[in-house]
Amino acid sequence: MAKYTDSKCRLCRREGAKLFLKGERCYKGSCAFERRPVAPGQHGMARKKISEYGLQLREKQKCKRIYGVLEGQFRKYYEKADRMKGITGENMLSLLERRLDNVIYRMGIGSSRAQSRQLVTHAHFTVNGKNVNIASYIVKVGDVIAVKENKKDNKFFAEIKQLKVGVMPKWLEFNPETLTGKIIALPTREDIDITIKEHMIVELYSK
Ligand code: SF4
Repeated sequence: MAKYTDSKCRLCRREGAKLFLKGERCYKGSCAFERRPVAPGQHGMARKKISEYGLQLREKQKCKRIYGVLEGQFRKYYEKADRMKGITGENMLSLLERRLDNVIYRMGIGSSRAQSRQLVTHAHFTVNGKNVNIASYIVKVGDVIAVKENKKDNKFFAEIKQLKVGVMPKWLEFNPETLTGKIIALPTREDIDITIKEHMIVELYSK
């Protein structure tokens, strides 16, 4: 599978916003965007007038980068959202939020979506008692997500067990002691704290 391997901090500088791609480092003074909040490259400081198309493109790129999804798969989320009832942009964000790697991140198990994706693909979790190692797996209401029994005592999860439950989106539950979480509702737009103008992505794709 194709994978983005360049510096993650470059992506934040390119999008002109903190995308929180590197876990704890994003909350520290060493954040590259805070130190140098301009686009990377020779012309990063140059002021450019951006067209409507350019603005739509930037919103799409920002959203893709936040969730760590490549173009082909991202477009499929749009197409699926477009076939659903309701507002396409909000449906699309809800689908992205329901990816298993994002759920692991939102539960506070992984410190970034990238780390959470790695935990999922390295087969640390079950969904409703079955092994699932697919980061793009879409969870549904009632799903129970748990760390596998034979992984619970490893150092990483032993530390998670000591954590207090942080601020959790209201559509999720997570118990650090049992390393088990549950999907209690589908995420709505107001549950999703990312500053994306999703209607611009819809406008771009529907041209
Ligand atoms: Fe972005 Fe985090 Fe890097 Fe800051 S530290 S530039 S928020 S990825």
